[in-house]
Amino acid sequence: MLGGGTGGTLVANRLRRRWPTRDVEIVVVDEDDQHVYQPGLLVVPFGLARPDEIVRPRGQQLHPGIDYRVDPIDHVDLAERRVVLGGGAVDYDVLVVATGAVLQPEETPGLIAEGWMERVFTFYSLPGASALAGRLATFEEGRLAVNVVDLPIKCPVAPLEFCFLADWYLTERGVRDRVELVYVTPLDGAFTKPTASQHLGELLERKGVQLVTEFNTGEVDGRGGRLIGYDGREVDFDLGVVVPLHGGSDYVGRSPGLGDELNFVPTDEHTLQSKAAPEVFVIGDAANLPASKAGSVTHFEGEVLVENVGRFLDGEPLDASYDGHANCFIETGFGKALLIDFNYDTEPVGGHFPGAVGVPLLKESRLNHLGKLMFQWFYWHALLPGRDIPGLGSDMPTSGKELRLAPGDGPRDVDGGTAGSDHPDHQEASP
Ligand SMILES: Cc1cc2nc3c(=O)[nH]c(=O)nc-3n(C[C@H](O)[C@H](O)[C@H](O)COP(=O)(O)OP(=O)(O)OC[C@H]3O[C@@H](n4cnc5c(N)ncnc54)[C@H](O)[C@@H]3O)c2cc1C
Repeated sequence: MLGGGTGGTLVANRLRRRWPTRDVEIVVVDEDDQHVYQPGLLVVPFGLARPDEIVRPRGQQLHPGIDYRVDPIDHVDLAERRVVLGGGAVDYDVLVVATGAVLQPEETPGLIAEGWMERVFTFYSLPGASALAGRLATFEEGRLAVNVVDLPIKCPVAPLEFCFLADWYLTERGVRDRVELVYVTPLDGAFTKPTASQHLGELLERKGVQLVTEFNTGEVDGRGGRLIGYDGREVDFDLGVVVPLHGGSDYVGRSPGLGDELNFVPTDEHTLQSKAAPEVFVIGDAANLPASKAGSVTHFEGEVLVENVGRFLDGEPLDASYDGHANCFIETGFGKALLIDFNYDTEPVGGHFPGAVGVPLLKESRLNHLGKLMFQWFYWHALLPGRDIPGLGSDMPTSGKELRLAPGDGPRDVDGGTAGSDHPDHQEASP
């Protein structure tokens, strides 16, 4: 198992529960022993979690009988079925690639130059989220620009959630009317999926967040406070929050035949078998699938992947049932959240999840916000240990959903959706 993050941990634990140690030896390799609950990075900048509250030792998340090694992966030798580490090597019969996506801020000129971690931050890393918390706490006035440099990124809704929470946080601090919030994206709308994009675009507008679309950041001037687009457009800021480019882990590029030009691993979208070799499977952000890079996707993939490792070892045909299921709570501030649920074929729709009785889809509600808060407990105590969560299977559930919903016909949020100038949420509870 390459990587001891979300996917590597849950798959190793599921495999360990399935086979006794005398039959199958499981080795997990990661370069460090700090497992970060990444959705928690969103709330650290707003003082809603301390950095140490979202980190646990990786080795302790793995069941007994799993050999955990802290060592950087140097490369994979597909022909020899061997992984070469910084200090040794591991031979395999089956390899699971779970090394996720890495941040590449160095790929954008100027981003990590003058002003980095002073005027320009990212909340996508633990040091970045912690440093940003310090800066936001004293930010009194000016322009706060949130910028996604390019896709793919982990959790594509997280930068929007950051805008919604910033609106709440600055309102609570009594300085919202002195801060201009702007969301700068390479997309032609707030999000990729048309129905969700329309809903999220309306929410940005209602909360007074400017939307700048089709902006491809070519350079960041941290000292001068400018995002500079490839097309010559510029967006000024006093405080910049940038989500850097993402790629697969570097060792993929040093492993002939394993990855693509971005170091993601070409993978069958339904069986999760790699296209590099039949004994190599891929889970989570490391895969080049047309699914979101999200923990929920990684979780849903886990069931099919573990089944297929078993089928592969038994010489049986693989299960091709992974449908691209993704499920995301979107924090919208003031104690509310939206839930979206979709797969390769169906974009986010209205209705309820997981069935006719459940939490509302595509509607702001307090229940969704509580769901997001509770998720951290599920993550450590059910998802990582590899337990089945009732009602949360890998296939996208269809009951209770408005599957015929056309873009533009979606339900309005509970506040009416188009409220005017001031904050309709202002009087409400905090997250
Ligand atoms: C700010 C933020 C908010 C998010 N919010 C949500 C959310 O609300 N909902 C949701 O579903 N998802 C969310 N996500 C995404 C989610 O955290 C990831 O999609 C998920 O963790 C992917 O799991 P993974 O196993 O593929 O990768 P990871 O969990 O990132 O694990 C990859 C592991 O590989 C290791 N590794 C990489 N390269 C090497 C190497 N060369 N040698 C050794 N080890 C290596 C890394 O150290 C790491 O431990 C969020 C992510 C971020 C950044």
